[in-house]
Amino acid sequence: MAGSGSGYRWSKKARVEGCTTLDTSDLNRMKLLIPGTNNRSGSLEWRRGGQTEPSSTVGYLITVGETSGSLRLDYQMTQTKEKFDYAIPLVATCCHLGGRRWWFICPLVRGGVACNRRVRKVYLRGKYFGCRRCHNLAYMSSQESDSRVYAALRRGAHLHEFGNVTGMSISQLGFALKVLTAGQKRLDRIGKRINRDTRRRGPK
Ligand SMILES: [Zn+2]
Repeated sequence: MAGSGSGYRWSKKARVEGCTTLDTSDLNRMKLLIPGTNNRSGSLEWRRGGQTEPSSTVGYLITVGETSGSLRLDYQMTQTKEKFDYAIPLVATCCHLGGRRWWFICPLVRGGVACNRRVRKVYLRGKYFGCRRCHNLAYMSSQESDSRVYAALRRGAHLHEFGNVTGMSISQLGFALKVLTAGQKRLDRIGKRINRDTRRRGPK
């Protein structure tokens, strides 16, 4: 995910597809979570690996106080052209070594009850950004590492600044290694078959 402060909020370019993730640590890195920020606008972009055109763009308007704030989002669904404009509340907790840790308050309502869960990440599934639990993303601890990777693969789009191998978690690297090993075994089998065929045919 990358940000720009050019202020093209409300622009027709704001569009989203697939599963896009918002992470408070990314917002922090983009220096968007600075107390005293008042109605700062811009856009957030997500790119698939290697592509120059963003796969999703969301306009934002952010206001940040000492311990709370609000991130207003606007975007349009690529396929249905439906437009959305709503705010996700932000809250900060103080770390015991100093500094603040920012959280989203999940804005979704399930069965008439507001979720209000405090989360570091909200995911766009369907039409709205919300917490993992609201979106029913698979999160069983036994399959946690793989399901996370599968979710990332399904999502397709990587956060702009971390769409490379060094940004992978240990579990993701483990999964990548499994894929490589399987690929290597297949190549070995093909190699053996070629050798066998060559031997059968004999030297020319
Ligand atoms: Zn939720």
